[in-house]
Amino acid sequence: MAIRTILYGYNVENGKTVINIQESEIVKKVFSLYAEGKTLSDIALMLTDHNVIYFRNEVKWNKNTISRMIENEKYIGNDVYPTIISPELFNKARTIKNQKSCKQKKHTKEIELLRKITVCGKCGGRYKRINTWGTREKWMCSNGCACVTYIDDSILEKAISDNFNTAINNPALLDIKADSKYQPTIEAVKEENELLRLMDQPKISFSAVSKSIMQEAKVRFNCCEFDDGELTEELKDEISQLSIDEKLDCRTMKKYIKQVTIQSDGRITTVFINNAEITNGGA
Ligand SMILES: [Zn+2]
Repeated sequence: MAIRTILYGYNVENGKTVINIQESEIVKKVFSLYAEGKTLSDIALMLTDHNVIYFRNEVKWNKNTISRMIENEKYIGNDVYPTIISPELFNKARTIKNQKSCKQKKHTKEIELLRKITVCGKCGGRYKRINTWGTREKWMCSNGCACVTYIDDSILEKAISDNFNTAINNPALLDIKADSKYQPTIEAVKEENELLRLMDQPKISFSAVSKSIMQEAKVRFNCCEFDDGELTEELKDEISQLSIDEKLDCRTMKKYIKQVTIQSDGRITTVFINNAEITNGGA
């Protein structure tokens, strides 16, 4: 497929960019239709229906071609490009486009929730969501670890739904591995050593040992992330009865998801309320 290198509406003659009369009429038509309220797709369809050639006998218009045209400031003219569109018309089209994309970017309840529970896989800091140009959202770590992920809301939501579907199809994945949970703190190690020392005495003081055992048990207990088996069973039971067609709604997310982690390689981990984690295949 050949790619147009000269901007639609222009020709190059003797090294100079000049207006292509026929094409420039189409450009004007596109801008005025858009300013009248037609959508990008409407306009693409109209041009296709009228067999308007885009390039080398090809009639290939879509909403992206129209979108790029409307955003291209060269049409108002500069040192190289002669004017096709008046700045007034250009600005009118731009205003409409901005308004439309603002509307589309209006946060859904799901995105509002995700803003609160999405964290950085590298440092655990909160991920911020920033709107950038037109189509993509930029999620970045607010903790200053320089993790920046460009990701569409729709892709993020899809990954979370995929993870959720994985859990629906295989609820056993929601089991928490008990052995991965125990991580002794320095205090626990100290208590443990103290107990060993007491039991290593030639003359064992039973009251000191029993006190030490209780103390150690307490410290150990505190450094276990308590796996509530009942919660896991309930979660498995409820999730296995769900079916997610497209994306998760806010209520389901709130009910079952504790956290979403954006990994530095772009993969998305869904952390369920019982701390079980499921990561999607990758971006
Ligand atoms: Zn980070």
